[in-house]
Amino acid sequence: MYKRPDFDDIYMELAVNLAKRSHCIKRHVGAVLTKDTRIISIGYNGPPEKTHNCDEEWPEEGCPRDSKGSCSLALHAEENAILFAVKNGTEVKGATIYVTLSPCISCARLLFASGVKKVIYLHSYAEYKGLDVDEGNAFLSKFGVEVQKYSGDFSMIHE
Ligand SMILES: [Zn+2]
Ligand SMILES: [Zn+2]
Repeated sequence: MYKRPDFDDIYMELAVNLAKRSHCIKRHVGAVLTKDTRIISIGYNGPPEKTHNCDEEWPEEGCPRDSKGSCSLALHAEENAILFAVKNGTEVKGATIYVTLSPCISCARLLFASGVKKVIYLHSYAEYKGLDVDEGNAFLSKFGVEVQKYSGDFSMIHE
């Protein structure tokens, strides 16, 4: 029987598909920024334009690492989504963001400062990194941003 998808399902599925476009070697992350159920921006993790694409440049050894062991070139999916919106003069305040991985602390600060009011994530950043706490989620909750683990129709999500 046909099931009518919710916006949560549609946007999370889109975030999952966007993640597949990432040029990074390790983790692929996608983000969809919405407002009043409409898409205002999208993003996935990757180096800024006119730098390098990790998978093409370093197919064997992977992305050059920074001091914390993350890709040293990539902007995170959330950063790219916010950046595009801001560059185009789109009002981000009051937006909801869908992300395939919950925000790192640095993205959490950016989302909060941009006025994002709700974050819906698919996977936990802490679980991925083997950390005890999701410090990004904790930061957001502490300052009044609603944080929700995606609990929609997983049959919609094809990772
Ligand atoms: Zn990379
Ligand atoms: Zn981040």
